[in-house]
Amino acid sequence: MTTMQPSLTYTRFAPSPTGELHLGHAFSACFAARAGGGQFILRIDDIDHTRCKPAFTEKIFNDLAWLGLQWRKPVRYQSDRLESYREALETLAKKELVYPCFLTRKEVNALLSAPQYDGTAKASMQEAIPAVERRRRENSGIAPAWRLRTTAALEEVGELTWHDAACGIDVPIDMANFGDVVIARKDISTSYHLSVVVDDAMDGITLVTRGEDLKASSHLHRLLQGLLGLGTPDYLHHRLLTDSTGRRLAKRDKSASIAKLRRDGHTADAVLSMMPEIILP
Ligand code: GLU
Repeated sequence: MTTMQPSLTYTRFAPSPTGELHLGHAFSACFAARAGGGQFILRIDDIDHTRCKPAFTEKIFNDLAWLGLQWRKPVRYQSDRLESYREALETLAKKELVYPCFLTRKEVNALLSAPQYDGTAKASMQEAIPAVERRRRENSGIAPAWRLRTTAALEEVGELTWHDAACGIDVPIDMANFGDVVIARKDISTSYHLSVVVDDAMDGITLVTRGEDLKASSHLHRLLQGLLGLGTPDYLHHRLLTDSTGRRLAKRDKSASIAKLRRDGHTADAVLSMMPEIILP
């Protein structure tokens, strides 16, 4: 007789090693563990070589283990997957759904704050500079950022939804606030958005748990999954922890760093009890 195995939920915790973990990160890790049936996939988001440091990765392992959390082995590193991100970008380029953008940050900001800008970047952002200057930059050998042709991308996928597990509803994708979003930065040749959808597919993630500040990104992630032919996990966004003034915790809030709380003599249980209760749908 065969017994039905309950299907496993694969969640992940994906910290960037750009500083020490704080209570908010620890809450996110506990949330991923609880939703994943006691474990999660640990993925080190280290694509941004300008800001990530191996010493912080070591501290992350240390703090998570001290809190008694368990993760599936092996640990995944985004820096091992640059080739997969490049292939994903190439797939989009072959479909003519991305274009190189040579605008400087200052030019982009000026464009976005111009009164005539309608918030959707319907026209290619490249139109903002004269054609001669555009060609000069294209021929100069400097690396461009790559932007998604969002309108064309939406036409390509048709109607898509992502599942919001907190509300139990399928949400239609809505790209109104994105414009032609950068999906490969010029300095790292990929972006958080492109990498995360490739990673979640490679890691077989069935439920993405993360802070509600990233909820809006789920629209773009679903769109990229559709364009790249990747499966889609469900999404469960959790509340963000705040300090005593109501401001969300950030890496600069040293008082909430797990390392500091440890140094101050708090036990792991005491730190865990500083977090809100985890309530799953
Ligand atoms: N490294 C990202 C962060 O810390 C992960 C976001 C995600 O879970 O998708 O915000």
